[in-house]
Amino acid sequence: MNFFDFITRLLQGSTQPKIKEPKPVSTVTKVEDRSSSSLSRMILHWTAGRHTASYLDKKHYHFLIEGDGTVVKGYYKPEANESTRGGYAAHTRMKNTGSIGISLCAMAGAEWSPFKAGKYPITKEQVEALCSLIAELSVVYDIPITERTVLSHAEVEKVLGVKQRGKWDISWLPHYRTRVTPSEVGHYIRKKAKTKLSGFSVS
Ligand SMILES: [Zn+2]
Repeated sequence: MNFFDFITRLLQGSTQPKIKEPKPVSTVTKVEDRSSSSLSRMILHWTAGRHTASYLDKKHYHFLIEGDGTVVKGYYKPEANESTRGGYAAHTRMKNTGSIGISLCAMAGAEWSPFKAGKYPITKEQVEALCSLIAELSVVYDIPITERTVLSHAEVEKVLGVKQRGKWDISWLPHYRTRVTPSEVGHYIRKKAKTKLSGFSVS
């Protein structure tokens, strides 16, 4: 068939070009849609702000968890961080590619030593919501819950070997009396997130 015949038949509708519908972008509400994206880890933060997500927070993280446990989506979808060529959420120095950024809205005015959590400490509701979100995203993006794949910003330097200039999020949770090591917090969160995994199983 020559080009003109092709166009004629196309206009007549006898040749149906196969147009693939774009696959819907995975959302956390659709856990059955496993993504084939190259996102390989989640990095957990606190915003050093108040208990609500600000404009800047939404630009820097894919998900924010407010003081009452509400999960707020950031401006960029996690897929934006498959590469850092276009717009993406910049949350971790030199480790944004392939990393989903989740942040707890908390810890404004927190002090390192002597430790003070400040007026907006992380709440128990935030920890619960964080662990549920990790479990859900782990299923959606097929990311295992291990120290190298689900870790806090404060663990990045030690575990992934990239300097983070004194970042200490997350070194405290509400059930600790004072600041603890980032690995202790990371271990606690990973363990708790795993217990929530069964609720998000893929059939
Ligand atoms: Zn951080």
